[in-house]
Amino acid sequence: MDKTTELKKLHEIWLSKNTCALKTTAIQGVLGDGSAHAEIVFIGEAPGAQEDKHGKPFIGAAGKFLNEMLESIHMDREDIYITNLVKYRPPENRDPTKEEIEVCHAWLLDEIRLINPLLIVTLGRHAMNYFFPEKKITDAHGEIFSTQVFDKPHFILPLYHPAAALYNGSLREVLKSDFKHIPTILKHLEDQSQCEPII
Ligand code: URA
Repeated sequence: MDKTTELKKLHEIWLSKNTCALKTTAIQGVLGDGSAHAEIVFIGEAPGAQEDKHGKPFIGAAGKFLNEMLESIHMDREDIYITNLVKYRPPENRDPTKEEIEVCHAWLLDEIRLINPLLIVTLGRHAMNYFFPEKKITDAHGEIFSTQVFDKPHFILPLYHPAAALYNGSLREVLKSDFKHIPTILKHLEDQSQCEPII
């Protein structure tokens, strides 16, 4: 089975077996979107109203801003894969609870295992704290860290969430500047992965 079909199957299975309590209030599950062959996976927090309505991640205001930043590094949504920690919209866009994150976590790990990206970019503190519970986004944004996902080392770049940056001018400039480093980081990881094991 090719990777794209495998990813589709993975979502079908998780859609039916996932027991997230948010299923009762959300319109639908919002699946990860983009290329199963992407070198870079973005992870947000949870779908908002627009995403819940249309069933696609990051299509509201935060998504538009993200698209602009992708354009600034000559990428588009087809070059990447984008998903969320929690696949169902929390009512009133409240923060997802620990339990809601816990129920969706195996789904997210399966996406990462299948795509096996060179770089994972977490958007906002919730996605970052999923991998690094002790880190603070104010200190960690823009830096590259590594961690094991299953038995493989993965590189993680925590960034501010585009929704937070939309209404805060200084955060917006920091996010735009951190984002501009992505091509260099990717290039470095590509070069490393071609000549030696990354870790
Ligand atoms: N914010 C998120 O974290 N995810 C989305 O899909 C939309 C907005």
